[in-house]
Order: sequence, then structure tokens, then C-alpha cells
Amino acid sequence: MDEFALIKRYFTRRTPRSPHVVLGIGDDAAVLDIPAGMQLAVSVDTLVSGVHFPTSTEPYDIGYKALAVNLSDMAAMGAEPFAATLALTLPQADEAWLQRFSGGFFDLAARYHVQLIGGDTTCGPLSITVQIHGLLPQGAALLRSGARPDDAIYVTGTLGDAGLGLLAAQNKMTLPDPQRALDKLNRPEPRVLEGMALRGIAGSAIDVSDGLLADLGHILKASGAGARLNLDALPLSPDVRACDEEQAHAIALSAGDDYELCFTVPSSKEAALKRAFETFSCACTRVGVIEREPGLRCVRADGSLYVPKASGYDHFR
Ligand code: ADP
Ligand code: MG
Repeated sequence: MDEFALIKRYFTRRTPRSPHVVLGIGDDAAVLDIPAGMQLAVSVDTLVSGVHFPTSTEPYDIGYKALAVNLSDMAAMGAEPFAATLALTLPQADEAWLQRFSGGFFDLAARYHVQLIGGDTTCGPLSITVQIHGLLPQGAALLRSGARPDDAIYVTGTLGDAGLGLLAAQNKMTLPDPQRALDKLNRPEPRVLEGMALRGIAGSAIDVSDGLLADLGHILKASGAGARLNLDALPLSPDVRACDEEQAHAIALSAGDDYELCFTVPSSKEAALKRAFETFSCACTRVGVIEREPGLRCVRADGSLYVPKASGYDHFR
């Protein structure tokens, strides 16, 4: 099968249609329509085999996750995703692999109405790059720089499950029922609707891809502020709670791949936040407060300070 037949069979046919796409796959470039009063949010993420996912990962999950991590970036901006490009580097044109990979990609694309509008297909070590495009009302983007002293810090869902899943996938930990953690690792639910609902409510937002300490740290740096985190308030699943306390805290704070949202809310918007999340099944938990003093302090319920051993993942460290 040649490159063009491959693209047609696995990537052109099944994609949803977006009203903002004037021209999709097939020409030298796609053409997008940005409605008046809206802004375009663009982000790109690469997944490299053996770096971002174990080489043994199911092709379906690779396709799913390649899109999910990009949708999560749209969520963190409060943007509504509508179109994606896909640059695929494949060791070979393995049709069974492509069938499963595109299944994972398009099942998620369908749920969030994201059209595949183009890409690139090359031969080499397995690597997947997705660029995502989303729409925002003028000036409504949720930035990292908008946290202010006394704002409450919230996170969606639970923290550390994907980290636990990775330990299980690497046989570094045995869980009584590893499936939940593996699902969180391989098929994270991007908080797209939650992110859009946070427009006008959250002062700042980020998605937690490298661990809460690292990602909240980005908000603090961009906002020129510090924070106090209540260790005992961290939302933990029963699986993470089952670890010894030290390990549970380390995983919840520093393991990557959760793809939950971390955001700050001024007290005047707390009621609106509560109303907004009433319609979502996803939890939203207050975990701390923004402070004037720079730095991130993790405090136990008895007031004692917890000093984390590790921060987030860094590719070059
Ligand atoms: P060009 O040589 O002009 O860059 P290509 O031969 O790379 O064009 O691609 C032909 C068309 O197929 C383009 O519209 C491109 O966006 C699309 N395409 C290529 N690879 C993919 C892919 N993996 N997924 C979706 N569309 C793709
Ligand atoms: Mg090309």
C-alpha cells in the first residue's frame, strides 16, 4: 500500500465534519474559517514511542492518547477544539496497527467533534504529532498568568492514577485491580467541557501533564505569586489511597499524565464555579490558595510542612 492509499483508507474516511473547515485533507494546506469575534487557539504535542508511552501500548490507546493530550491543552485554555492535523512517523505500513490506531484517534475525535484536516506521513521510528485548533471568544483564553493572592486553587478529577498505571505497566507495582489506573494512563478524559465552562470564572488554568507541583509551578511563575497546598485535600482515588501515605502524596504531586485541570478562582467567582460544575460528573476539589510570598508550600492538616522529594518530569534532566 502506498502513502496516499494509506492516508485515504485510514485517515480521510472516518473524520467528523466541522462547520469551520472550508477545506480539509487532500490539498497542500487546509483552510479554516474563524467566525467574527472569535480567536484561534493552536497547540501541538508529540508522542514518541518508548518515551511518552511504553512500546507495548495498544495501538488504539496510542491513537486515543495522541489526540487526548492535545484536547487537554485546549481545555486548559478554555478553547473549543474543532480541527486537528496528524504527522505520523511509522516504522512500516502495518495495516492491523493503522486500523487500531485510527480507531482510537477517531473514536475520541467523534466525541469532541474534531475534524482531521491534514497531516504528514513518513517512515522512521514511531512518533505521532498532533496539532489541534480551537476557538475562543475574543479575549476569553484562560492564561497561566492570571492567578492572584487569595484566589482558591482547584483541580478536577483525581490525581496520581496515571502515575500508578505507569508503575503497573512497567511491573514496578502490583495493584489488586490495575485496570482503572491503566485506563487513566492510556485513555485520559480531556476536560474540554469543564475548561470551556471555566471561561469568565477561572483567573488562570493549566492542564496537569507533568504533575501538580510542576504545573501549578508554571502558574505561579507566570503570575508572579506563590501558593499553599493542603496535602490532605488532594483528591485521591481509592487506588492511590491504598498506597502508603508518603508514596500516595509523591504520586499525586509529581507523577505525570493525569490530564486534569488545575485552575485558580477569585472568591467572587466561587458560587459561579459551584453552579458550573453541578452539570459535570467530574469532581472539582479545592486544594489550596494563592499567596503573595513566592514558592510552593505543601502543608499537612496539623500545619506541618511536607517537603516533596521529586518535582515533575523533565525530558532533558
Ligand atoms: P504535500 O506533499 O503537499 O505536503 P502530502 O503528500 O504530505 O502533501 O499529503 C497529501 C494530503 O494528505 C495533504 O492534504 C495532507 O494534509 C494529507 N495527509 C498526509 N498525511 C496525513 C495523515 N497522517 N493524516 C491526515 N492527513 C494526512
Ligand atoms: Mg507533506
